[in-house]
Amino acid sequence: MLVSHVLVPPAITAILESPTNRVQAFLAAGHVCSVMGTWEYEPLVERYRVPIVVTGFEPLDVLEGIRRTVLQLERGEAQLENAYTRAVNRAGNLPAQQMLADVFEVTDRGWRGIGVIPNSGWRLRDVYRDFDAETRFAVQNIHTEESALCHSGEVLRGLLKPNQCPAFGKECTPRTPLGATMVSSEGACAAYYQYGRFAQSEDGAVL
Ligand code: SF4
Repeated sequence: MLVSHVLVPPAITAILESPTNRVQAFLAAGHVCSVMGTWEYEPLVERYRVPIVVTGFEPLDVLEGIRRTVLQLERGEAQLENAYTRAVNRAGNLPAQQMLADVFEVTDRGWRGIGVIPNSGWRLRDVYRDFDAETRFAVQNIHTEESALCHSGEVLRGLLKPNQCPAFGKECTPRTPLGATMVSSEGACAAYYQYGRFAQSEDGAVL
């Protein structure tokens, strides 16, 4: 196994601690929370005064998550809200968490376009080390070259909209992705390409 799992709260912390941070609120991914629960986000809301709304994946779920987030921002509130109660509760899936804790331990993890975030990933525990490709094969020092054209780190941190990247829709498309955010259909750049590349404001400017 070549494990590259990541943890959400340390990534949110890294974004909020950045001196250039512009992110004012977060939609927390419902599939993660269905296992991990919502309790991990409570200290983040408390410490950074930032709204976090746990959100599902159907179109109405996403709209509801956005609606609740905007309402909080307009009221000047910062709360943890669960807009995905049909799948998520505060504690999460305890047997699944126990299995995860048995197999994995927390480690530093490199994030493409951002760099290493301390304690933001999992690796196999020692007892499973025989199955760990990182120790069995010479893969630890593989370095991924990021395209010089790619601004995915800024996109991930909310500093740049995907279509403000000069390569968006030109050198970089879902068929020819230059960065992680265009590779996955869940990525911001791929979503902008799929749904937003033809969107224009009333004065004709590309949004
Ligand atoms: S459009 Fe492509 S090149 Fe630009 S930030 Fe997104 S992934 Fe990187």
